[in-house]
Amino acid sequence: MNDSIALPPNDWPELKPGWVWLCGAGPGDPGLLTLHGLNALRQADVIVFDALVGDAILDWAPQAERIYAGKRGGKPSPKQRDISLRLVELARAGKRVLRLKGGDPFVFGRGGEEAQTLVQHGVPVRIIPGISAGIGGLAYAGIPVTHRDVNQSVTFVTGHDQTGEAPQNLDWQAISKGSQVIVIYMGMKHIDRIVSELMAAGRPGSEPVAVVTTATTTDQQVLETTLEDAAQDIADSDLAPPAIICVGRSVLMRQVLDWQALAAGEAPRNLDPLGRGRPAESA
Ligand code: SAH
Repeated sequence: MNDSIALPPNDWPELKPGWVWLCGAGPGDPGLLTLHGLNALRQADVIVFDALVGDAILDWAPQAERIYAGKRGGKPSPKQRDISLRLVELARAGKRVLRLKGGDPFVFGRGGEEAQTLVQHGVPVRIIPGISAGIGGLAYAGIPVTHRDVNQSVTFVTGHDQTGEAPQNLDWQAISKGSQVIVIYMGMKHIDRIVSELMAAGRPGSEPVAVVTTATTTDQQVLETTLEDAAQDIADSDLAPPAIICVGRSVLMRQVLDWQALAAGEAPRNLDPLGRGRPAESA
């Protein structure tokens, strides 16, 4: 146990030898790790971590061996099966294993597959949720993922499937019609295709879009654009993945809720970006 970083009093679970804890590290800002995550870091013998997990978080577990298992952009290596079996192997060797993944392990993170393989091999697991980039990343950009005047539903979509191609089995028509706000993970590569699908399904070209890269880190960048301009604006920018793309009128709320700009002394761009003309809380 590394107790260099104290935890508040609580009945914290023990990470026992032979167990794997599958934990979300949050989108980037180390402060967005949960206390269960910190409790895990203090106890781990070995941490198997992804590309999107920041060094600062790993540094909180100086005692732990670090194994990098990064996968980015649908690239083939290392193979998902190999990662899962490695976890089984480490657990069977009696290690206290922390599997640390960006965001939430069960949101487009293959956490479900890893946990299933562990259970199939008789390895005991605990799941520690994390703040997903599609929620927390947007919040850091000043975009509420739901907002009463905008949406009663939100759809989280992946921009590519297991092969790295644009997903074939997504019903873009249904998503376009059924969800006022669409939050796209891994959408940069196939942005052209995604935009055409959405517009073909009836979403207006003028619809607001935000692209948030390396959200919640000190490198966070935000591009505000529209559906019809998104692909070109991204191409003309120096924005690079990881990026969350948000399609919908909630993006407008950034004009009043860009709290990082406000904290830096800028004035709000528009106090009533949805044009309600009455107090925010009134029905
Ligand atoms: N489990 C993660 C998602 C993993 S898939 C989660 O819950 O957030 C990887 C994709 O997540 C990236 O391609 C990107 O779309 C998104 N992502 C993760 N971290 C991000 C960040 N800090 N900023 C923007 N997008 C991020």
